[in-house]
Amino acid sequence: MNVLETKGLVINRIGIPVVRDLNLIARAGEISVLLGANGAGKTTLLEGISGVCPVASGTILVAGNDVGKLKPGQRALSGIAHVEQGRTIFGTMTTEENLKVGMHEDSSLDEVYELFPELLARRDVASMMLSGGEQQMVVIGRALVGRPRVILIDEMSAGLAPVVVSRLMKGVRRLADQGLAVVLVEQFANLALEIGDRAYVMRRGSIVYEGDCATLMQDPEKLHHLYLGDLGEAETAA
Ligand code: ATP
Repeated sequence: MNVLETKGLVINRIGIPVVRDLNLIARAGEISVLLGANGAGKTTLLEGISGVCPVASGTILVAGNDVGKLKPGQRALSGIAHVEQGRTIFGTMTTEENLKVGMHEDSSLDEVYELFPELLARRDVASMMLSGGEQQMVVIGRALVGRPRVILIDEMSAGLAPVVVSRLMKGVRRLADQGLAVVLVEQFANLALEIGDRAYVMRRGSIVYEGDCATLMQDPEKLHHLYLGDLGEAETAA
């Protein structure tokens, strides 16, 4: 089922289009991996979907409903969770207090502790004392207890050791296996392709490749060319 669908999305930054006529689908139970070089427009796309950044034109559907005119808070209520870059936690609040911010009444913290048991022992610790990986778990856990349909995750691995990133990736895979739609923006392309289902590569505001993660992972040279733009024209795999 298509949980999130963008059609012909255009987003400008200081009057210049940085997302152009963009179509993307995120399905329940799947991780859609969004790759691309710095400045390709990935963060802007996620910000446009969640409402942080205004959209110039195009449609954003969540479970078939057009949410493009809603404010960010209303979009969150419609089922969009956005884990932004930079691990925004409330440093003096404990792990548990952070997790309770924006918690849906039908949610329980048990689901977070089941996903990331590491946090259970750290529940009463001020979150500024947590490691970078634990802080990222808190931010993802906080998104989860808002009961989203789709979770947009931007560069969760920034500044973390590969072993920690692998641990987080396993958690994200589990979220999708539980039925969530996930859109994952990631610089560690191989780790993301390993756990992902659908791959999108973005260049200069447009999708230049769409296909299975497994297929793309088997062709690192192609991935390299897609990032750098050596292939020229946009292409789409079946
Ligand atoms: P990165 O991996 O570096 O975050 P990205 O693919 O997420 O790259 P964006 O951050 O969305 O790309 O940036 C797309 C373009 O928009 C870039 O040219 C960037 O300089 C520009 N841009 C991003 N944020 C702003 C802003 N707040 N104001 C003006 N221009 C911006």
